[in-house]
Amino acid sequence: MSDKPNAPADDLLELAPEDGAPERSGAAGAARPWYVLVVDDDDDVHATTRFALNGARVLGRPIELVHARSAAEAWARLGEVKDIAVALIDVVMESPDSGLRLVRELREAGMREMRIVLRTGQPGYAPEVSVISSYEIDDYRTKSELTQTRLLTVLTATIRAYDQIRTISRSRAGLEMIVESATKLFTRTNLELFSRGVLTQIAALLRVAPNGLVCVKGGEGTDGGAMIVSAAGSFAAFAGRPLSALPDGTLAKLIADLPRQGDPVVEGGFMLMHFGIVPGRELTAVIEAGGDIADADRTLLRLFATNIAIGFENQALIDRLDHMAHVDPVFDVPNLNAFETALSERFAADPIEGRIALVHLESHASIVAGYGLRIARNYLRAIYAALADYEMGALVVAMIGDGTFALIGEKTHLDPARLQALVTAAYTTDGVEIASTATAALLDLDAASSGDTAATMRALASALQHVRRTRRNESVVFDATMRAESDRRFTLQHEMKRAAPSGEGFAVHLQPKVDIASGRILGAEALLRWRYDGRPVSPAEFIPIAEATGLTEPLTDFVVAEIGRWTRARAKAGAAIVPVAINLSPIDLGRQGFAARLIERVQSAELSPSTIEFEVTEGVAMQATPWAIGQLQILKNAGFRIALDDFGTGYSSLGNFGDFPIDTLKIDRSFVTPLTVATARESLAAVILAMTQTLRVGCVAEGVETDEQRQALRFLGCEVAQGYLFGKPAEIDGFDAVFGAKIRN
Ligand code: C2E
Ligand code: MG
Ligand code: MG
Repeated sequence: MSDKPNAPADDLLELAPEDGAPERSGAAGAARPWYVLVVDDDDDVHATTRFALNGARVLGRPIELVHARSAAEAWARLGEVKDIAVALIDVVMESPDSGLRLVRELREAGMREMRIVLRTGQPGYAPEVSVISSYEIDDYRTKSELTQTRLLTVLTATIRAYDQIRTISRSRAGLEMIVESATKLFTRTNLELFSRGVLTQIAALLRVAPNGLVCVKGGEGTDGGAMIVSAAGSFAAFAGRPLSALPDGTLAKLIADLPRQGDPVVEGGFMLMHFGIVPGRELTAVIEAGGDIADADRTLLRLFATNIAIGFENQALIDRLDHMAHVDPVFDVPNLNAFETALSERFAADPIEGRIALVHLESHASIVAGYGLRIARNYLRAIYAALADYEMGALVVAMIGDGTFALIGEKTHLDPARLQALVTAAYTTDGVEIASTATAALLDLDAASSGDTAATMRALASALQHVRRTRRNESVVFDATMRAESDRRFTLQHEMKRAAPSGEGFAVHLQPKVDIASGRILGAEALLRWRYDGRPVSPAEFIPIAEATGLTEPLTDFVVAEIGRWTRARAKAGAAIVPVAINLSPIDLGRQGFAARLIERVQSAELSPSTIEFEVTEGVAMQATPWAIGQLQILKNAGFRIALDDFGTGYSSLGNFGDFPIDTLKIDRSFVTPLTVATARESLAAVILAMTQTLRVGCVAEGVETDEQRQALRFLGCEVAQGYLFGKPAEIDGFDAVFGAKIRN
């Protein structure tokens, strides 16, 4: 029964103290009274009624009179006392029909539950039967007729009727609620939401706060134990955790002992209820309930349970679909959808906490190639199991691509070192022990996120890309510094895409190549410069970006065009030829038809093998594919000289040069810097120089900065050098002004 927060204060009731006191104190004080409204303009009637009903109880509850001397006063009382069970109304008050009029007005105002007994002083004056039935008047008596006993009999009958009507209408409201809640519940698309709804509805039905939980036994990932799928109020913290996580075992025991079918059970301050069982799945709702549950509420709960069972079956169906959408069909583990869902849930929480990680197994492709797909898959399963085991319950591990895992966990759990150790450990599958190399990016959700799942997924992917580029084979928390680097890279990439085709902001600088003995300039190397936002960007920064975004070809075109322009101008002026070396990106050599296109460009810039040559870094020789070598061969066949740049840094061995069409080796600056005359003979530079002599290829020493280095190189027989000692790269159009005097004629 509903509480009565607005029960009238005692002084509002016109009850004589001696009458009211016994009913509202002592043992009976706890039982709420039935309110009976007495409307009569005769004070004696009030007094006799009070006297007649003194100490009376109906259905175990006392009676409390509410007195009114007119229809207007009756309305006032009705505003104060909400659940008046019976009104004893005098027919004739101010006017002969004021009582009847009051009855009509009461009913028309929607007061349909209240029972009405008409009393009249004049026996001859009775309302018509039609009036009695249409206004639902329960009884009509003359005042003299109503002796004490009669009055009590009439009141008992009408109060009983009132109670029944209340129960029915409460049930009706409850039923409406059940129907409505079922409709609402059935649209819930996952078990967690569904069960949260169940909890809310039960709480509403019982008119208690939703302190409780819903647990499922035998659902996905419950390992046979019960999982708390939703929890509210004081249990909120346990949502998503096993039932065994509850600090006090009594509730778990109550749930375990709960009969599978039947009525709600009230025990230990809880209402426990079992809901419809789908094979292999059981749902139990538990809610804190102060005392026992009224019979009417039990009936309603039973009804609710039956209704929900249908919903639960549908839910199981929806969950199966859900499962299909969220689980990788090959591995039967959570997939990208599952990860994104978990991420969205994190974002829905306040505060947003935790860490996400994206792990890429660098050697996955080679494992597939080496052991075959089946073993590679079993190996991935082993890694997945290790990751999923890593911190029970706190982690979501999803497989979002071949050899790529995504994880959500707490910062303390998702530690980069532990993660790295787990994914690179050796696992034995199908009798083979396999270990992998892996790169992982970890992102803190509080710092790194906009609260937007899609944006965060992009950020995570780009974080991994950045870590793979800068710290491959490590697990790294992607911090603000890395983010700034990555953002800058992104900005540069964007800007370069826009600027590269036109060469906007780009310039070619030339650094002289010098004859060590005479100091005369034999040629130059073209070095690209880029200014973005008013500041120079180092080639070490922008060349890798250009390579990664396929912009090296337009940049090479720009360099070729600039050198063409410069060379033509000098030829026109009758100046001596200065052959210029152009750096080629190894990436370009892998492109279809690159050499042919380059030759075309060179020709249209009116350049030739006598005016330009090419440099490629040593790495190319190592990874040289037949295709790349073929491209170099085309250039070579067209007469262009090719230099192997940065030699000594790329672990080439002599054997690698077999089919490599090169004319010159450029000794990397790192071998030149430590050179002294005294130690020259034992230096690595000496070895490289000896090698060039054996191979009969030319040699250029890079990065000569001191005269000591120059002398040492000369001593070792090196003839050509490049470096700040002879000249820093100069703007192409200023080259002659700076170096003109030293150009060999
Ligand atoms: P690289 O081809 O080995 O060029 C030599 C680098 O050493 C240049 O750096 C040059 O400025 C620097 N250098 C020359 N002498 C000295 C010296 O005495 N001391 C020191 N410390 N450094 C010296 P830069 O211009 O920063 O270029 C770096 C790299 O960027 C180049 O290395 C080359 O691999 C690449 N690069 C430059 N321009 C282009 C281009 O147009 N296309 C391509 N694909 N790559 C380019
Ligand atoms: Mg170079
Ligand atoms: Mg170099």
